[in-house]
Amino acid sequence: MIVSKFGGSSLSNASQFEKVKTIVLNNSERKVVVVSAPGKSREEKHKVTDLLLMCYQLASHKLNFDEVFGIIKKRFKNIVKDLNIKLDIDKELEIIHREIIGGASREFIASRGEYLNAKILANFLDFDFLDAKDIIFIENEKANMEKSFKAINSKIDLEKHYVVPGFYGSGIDSKIKTFSRGGSDISGAIIAAALDAELYENWTDVSGFLTADPKIVLEEQTIKTVTYRELRELSYMGAPVLHEEAIFPVKAEQIPIKILNTNRPQDSGTLILPDESVNCSDNIITGISGKKDFTVIRIEKVFMAEDLSFYRKVLSVFETNDIKIEHMPTSIDTVSFVVASSEIEGKEKKISEEIAIYTSPDNIFISKGLAIIAVVGRGMVSAKGTSAIIFTALAENNINIRMISQGSSEMNIIIGVLNEDFEAAIEAIYKKFKELKK
Ligand code: ASP
Repeated sequence: MIVSKFGGSSLSNASQFEKVKTIVLNNSERKVVVVSAPGKSREEKHKVTDLLLMCYQLASHKLNFDEVFGIIKKRFKNIVKDLNIKLDIDKELEIIHREIIGGASREFIASRGEYLNAKILANFLDFDFLDAKDIIFIENEKANMEKSFKAINSKIDLEKHYVVPGFYGSGIDSKIKTFSRGGSDISGAIIAAALDAELYENWTDVSGFLTADPKIVLEEQTIKTVTYRELRELSYMGAPVLHEEAIFPVKAEQIPIKILNTNRPQDSGTLILPDESVNCSDNIITGISGKKDFTVIRIEKVFMAEDLSFYRKVLSVFETNDIKIEHMPTSIDTVSFVVASSEIEGKEKKISEEIAIYTSPDNIFISKGLAIIAVVGRGMVSAKGTSAIIFTALAENNINIRMISQGSSEMNIIIGVLNEDFEAAIEAIYKKFKELKK
């Protein structure tokens, strides 16, 4: 069986619901459909979840929220009217309105977009509506897998078909709790894992992951297959197509995920596969991703490795200042810490002072403006000369490499270049590998 999740843009208005219906009914193995709240479309400028959160903000300050609620109301009423279904949407909206006035929690209010969308779609498809509050259990924004798996298996009868709202579930106190934003992807993944689905489909408005940012390489090449691990390594990928945390539940059960486009269902999309199931690849590289604006803190100290507590002391400085380390290239007497500039902004002086006190280094340099590029591919493990290709591409384009690091899995090469060289570097690497394929 298949679990299919449809994102907000796939359910933004009645014509999108029609597309979803055609897709779902095309394969009776699509037993569980998980939905987001209505998202943006060409005509609709706001996501319903954002509007609901605005209602909460206004209501919690005792301000009138009727205007914003009116927009939400209009959207749902139009969908129900255009689909010509029998659902008392006025009553549903009235209940939610009353809950907001009555001081409902932020998470409860935020969840109502998914709740209503699932009710509408269940009615439209003639599937059973199954409330996520009865099958997904959330503690501190994370799912309680054991409890959720048990409930999912006891509540879902695979002879039937269901629509389940994504994004939320019940907390320990039985009140509604949500995942972080975009969390319907996680709900779908948990249900797919619990039911041991053959496939977890994630329907969105793009036909999968692209090999590189199309604004830089000026062409849209979809990645056909990618492994879970490659995808993690490509996490600097521009637009978030899939919630990062959605991988883990399905990965644990070795269930493939397919990213598909509701507006172009004929496209093959991107298939995300368990790491072991595909060893080789037609391509040396699967994708290139990257991000600008990193800061490097470089510490120099002769014989630093002799002091066994050196790294622990430096790391504790980052830890106590709440700064996440992205990369940590080392050499015999130097170590660099690469962190997102936004994380360290304003704390640079404090950090270098604390490092100086703890470790008495010979020098500390802080430089901003580094961009990181991750070249990722399971095909690299067996291919020789991948880094040579990358370095040649950069040298030919006169781009200076500021940092190099290869992941121990040997399927990613990370390079640091100056922010201003970022686009040119990605383009050069992309072109070089493309040339080699010909
Ligand atoms: N509707 C929620 C959001 O906008 C959750 C989701 O779409 O997955 O974040």
